[in-house]
Amino acid sequence: MRVAATAEGIQLVHLEILRFLSIANKYSNTAQSLCDYLGQTKGSISQSLKLIEEAGHIERKACEKDGRVIRLHLSDAGKVCLKRMEVHLLPDLPDDEKRVTVLKALLSDWQTQNSSQGFGQCKTCRFNQSLTGHKFKCGLTGEALSKSDIDKICQEHVF
Ligand code: SF4
Repeated sequence: MRVAATAEGIQLVHLEILRFLSIANKYSNTAQSLCDYLGQTKGSISQSLKLIEEAGHIERKACEKDGRVIRLHLSDAGKVCLKRMEVHLLPDLPDDEKRVTVLKALLSDWQTQNSSQGFGQCKTCRFNQSLTGHKFKCGLTGEALSKSDIDKICQEHVF
């Protein structure tokens, strides 16, 4: 990650923020969620957000449902930058369902043991309701979820 960030001339934490915003769902794309996810202080996250906003990698928009909440979005330039960095991030390993299952179970146990809350993938959340016709619903908010929503991570996630 460090190599990828350096190649783009950005800091590691900026890469982590761009990655988070590319996978966070519509309830989790806020500065507060970023603090919780990365375990950093509000001051430090707000400084990083200022820099990557100035670089044109993110945009802030008021929440459509609650104008007091500011939601963070990757800009087109941010998406392109992240795509360039992602080439360096994931090892080119063969698909192996068994290893992935073991890894998921390990991470889930680790999260539970550390009393870490949230940020699991929506489709593995106990509140996720699968309806007919590839439609989904969040049992917590009562809102409809799309197929792409359920691949994202959520701060309210519970296994
Ligand atoms: S089902 Fe769970 S993970 Fe998905 S949006 Fe609702 S609370 Fe979040």
